[in-house]
Amino acid sequence: MIYIPKGTKDVLPQDAYKWQYVEGMARDVAKLFNLKEIRTPTFEHTELFQRGVGDTTDIVTKEMYTFKDKGDRSITLKPEGTAGAVRAFIENGLAGGVLPAKMYYITPAFRYERPQAGRLREFHQFGVEIFGAASAQTDAEAILMADTLLKKLGLNVALKLNSIGCKTCRAAYNKALKEFFAPHLEGLCHDCKTRYEKNPLRLLDCKEEGCKKINADAPTILEYLCDDCAAHFEEVKTCLDLSGIAYEIDSRIVRGLDYYTRTVFEFVSTSIGAQGTVCAGGRYDGLIEELGGKAMPAVGFAAGIERLLIVMEQTGVEIPDEAKPVVYLAGMDKDCRQKAFEIATTLRKAGIFAEIDHMERSIKAQFKYADKIGAQYVAVIGGNELAEGKANVKCMATGESESVAFAEMLAYFQSK
Ligand code: ATP
Ligand code: MG
Repeated sequence: MIYIPKGTKDVLPQDAYKWQYVEGMARDVAKLFNLKEIRTPTFEHTELFQRGVGDTTDIVTKEMYTFKDKGDRSITLKPEGTAGAVRAFIENGLAGGVLPAKMYYITPAFRYERPQAGRLREFHQFGVEIFGAASAQTDAEAILMADTLLKKLGLNVALKLNSIGCKTCRAAYNKALKEFFAPHLEGLCHDCKTRYEKNPLRLLDCKEEGCKKINADAPTILEYLCDDCAAHFEEVKTCLDLSGIAYEIDSRIVRGLDYYTRTVFEFVSTSIGAQGTVCAGGRYDGLIEELGGKAMPAVGFAAGIERLLIVMEQTGVEIPDEAKPVVYLAGMDKDCRQKAFEIATTLRKAGIFAEIDHMERSIKAQFKYADKIGAQYVAVIGGNELAEGKANVKCMATGESESVAFAEMLAYFQSK
């Protein structure tokens, strides 16, 4: 027996409808906001993520699935969706087309992490990107889109909002952070010592308890925002206020990816413990240029589908059941089953959900099976029925039966 790799999950046939429900909602919301889908490869050149996600991030330093292909190229399974979307946007000349370019994707993502509830090595994201727009309304729209989806899914999660400014404000802030952390260096974890040197902002994102304690008193970025970034942030907040979206300013939120600028946000649920962030995003005005395109602003977010499903389950959100067969056609012997097959074919051609026996079971066992799969009607064809050219149709809810001629079956079930 060969088992599933650690950190991956099967979605079984009896559960797939839950995924389809969430994905369907995500697509509906995307359409509502004028987004079109983009599909990019599952793997890219490693360099794309090194540059796009950032050399100092956890993702690039320790979480990527990187390997050499047979042509000796360094390939990486996508750990997130944005870098690939930006590459495709540039490579296909969309940056010179109609702007803003609004797109979404539903994609698997791969990160070599320690698996736990809501943290997998292969997981799935619904992601949104808006390229070319710098306005605060666009940031607010991205947040509103995520909020709309979460509410449609019946989730009530808290929105945490922050601005991490631009290069200008961050230079001053990084300096202040370094001054603050200098006397505490000994108490920081190994990773944070590196972060201190390379990207002090990253220190605020550390999940180690010791570091978190020290972080608590660190200066906040909001005090260091330049006038433009501060005004942009105010406008984002005004838009959210106008939309009636509640938020909490949380200056600890810096996001795990290097490319963010200005607005950053997370939707956090309290019901999956440490893995509570179901959706996260923000503005990344430097990324398109960093990846070889022309300088262009961008904003987006990604929601983890597994985490959405976990929170939905924990909070008892009901997902509508899948459609059940309208009719199960039971046949007593070989000839009767042949007739059942023929009628099922006619019904299916007309778009009616019909099922037949595949196991050569007795009529009694077929009834049992029909009940298990939730068929609304069972049409029995025995020797007598076959001879008379009609089936005995039983309504499973009421237990009532009636005789229906084979030639009438289609009309009969079309009216149900
Ligand atoms: P975390 O802080 O939980 O590690 P992150 O900052 O690494 O999250 P992002 O890169 O912003 O997460 O990814 C967007 C979303 O994808 C997250 O908010 C989360 O819902 C989901 N996600 C990220 N990593 C995983 C994972 N390993 N397993 C399942 N879902 C994940
Ligand atoms: Mg992570």
